[in-house]
Amino acid sequence: MKASGQQRQYLVLENYIGGKFVHCENHIDSYDPSTGEVYCRVPDSGQEEVDAAVAAAKEAFPEWSACSPQQRAQVLNKLADLIEAHLEEFAQAESRDQGKTVAFARTVDIPRSAHNFRFFASSVLHHTTDCSQMDHMGCLNYTIRCPVGVAGLISPWNLPLYLLTWKIAPAIATGNTVVAKPSEMTSVTAWMMCKLMQQAGIPPGVVNIVFGTGPKAGDALVGHPNVPLISFTGSTATAQRITERSAPYCKKLSLELGGKNPAIIFADADLDQCIETTIRSSFSNQVRSFVALAKSEGGIIHCGEGVDQLDLPQQNNSGYFMPATVISGVSDSSRVMQEEIFGPVTCVSPFDTEEEAVSKGNGVRYGLACTVWSRDVGKIHRMARRLHTGLVWTNCWLVRDLNLPFGGMKHSGVGREGGKDSYHFFTEVKTVAIKH
Ligand code: NAD
Repeated sequence: MKASGQQRQYLVLENYIGGKFVHCENHIDSYDPSTGEVYCRVPDSGQEEVDAAVAAAKEAFPEWSACSPQQRAQVLNKLADLIEAHLEEFAQAESRDQGKTVAFARTVDIPRSAHNFRFFASSVLHHTTDCSQMDHMGCLNYTIRCPVGVAGLISPWNLPLYLLTWKIAPAIATGNTVVAKPSEMTSVTAWMMCKLMQQAGIPPGVVNIVFGTGPKAGDALVGHPNVPLISFTGSTATAQRITERSAPYCKKLSLELGGKNPAIIFADADLDQCIETTIRSSFSNQVRSFVALAKSEGGIIHCGEGVDQLDLPQQNNSGYFMPATVISGVSDSSRVMQEEIFGPVTCVSPFDTEEEAVSKGNGVRYGLACTVWSRDVGKIHRMARRLHTGLVWTNCWLVRDLNLPFGGMKHSGVGREGGKDSYHFFTEVKTVAIKH
């Protein structure tokens, strides 16, 4: 912690480059969402800092990529142990920085971050490649997979450490080195993790973290000629800019983007289970202007914004709080039904038939995930097949087997990540033909 001119104590973050914390000349303010006050200063990195990080990653690549998967797995497991040993500190920091509850960070974000390292430490030991015989030509063909090089990783604000580690873990497990840029709004837990890197045995330069804004630090990373691969999670609008910016370099891209995830609830659903889960899936993040838009589109606001008053303690009066809001009466083509509302706002729309539910679910430009609630197994299978989303959760939400693909269709993304898909994305395949 360092003191500012007004004697206020701020946390001042530094970039992590080549195994060292490096001071950055300029900083941006980061706010505690529960009070609306600045509590942390984040490096405002640009081209110079990104160049240094990419150079460190490039230098570390030959040695790291030559390590055996077993050696790399050992280091990843050690980092997982260390995150778990500091779980409570990480959970408190994630809550303060991002605004989610400590309980959620303690049971979801931080344990899953440690699990990401453990999962990829294990999965990287079990992949095999293809082989085909062409006896009539006296040839044997097989494939090998090699790490790509320096991976550029860019993550959003809603699941800060979880989504960052979801990228770092497979990237380094497969032998790449990385330059990561977390969201400028939620950088603290990434910085805390840097403090554990050396103890975990991660060699200098294998993981570099550069903090800063998207248009400056993010853009420098995406446009860097020595970064052949970008894994990005964030909004569809940013992904469009990243796609354009990286096009001249023909970079490998994985884009995990926005969504408009329908929850389709049939009359035969187990309502006790469904309502509890749907409340959590509907009201987890924060945004506000869409409620005013819903009113202008003829919507009825049943509860929440503009209807209920939040009873907050005085120190939270300037914080970013919003009551859970339920809207109905808007048309399927209205903006609130079509656009992503990244907030505790849900729009309710009735349907009578499976056909109608499919048509409503597929009638948006996104295709990330959906939930279907029903006790009828046949109906569940039919819906899962017809819905245009990368993930269909039935009678549950947010269940993740990391072996299986994660990602969206349509405007929700390009590519998939998870077990074999991450292995494929973070490696290049070569076909070798041997005449014998
Ligand atoms: P965002 O697109 O504003 O920012 C995401 C990241 O991109 C941040 O680190 C930001 O600094 C960086 N960035 C911004 N402009 C950039 C540029 N020009 N070049 C390079 N990097 C740039 O998104 P956000 O508000 O942080 O996150 C919310 C969005 O993320 C929502 O749309 C949400 O649906 C999506 N999201 C998707 C998934 C998924 O798995 N598909 C998961 C979480 C969040």
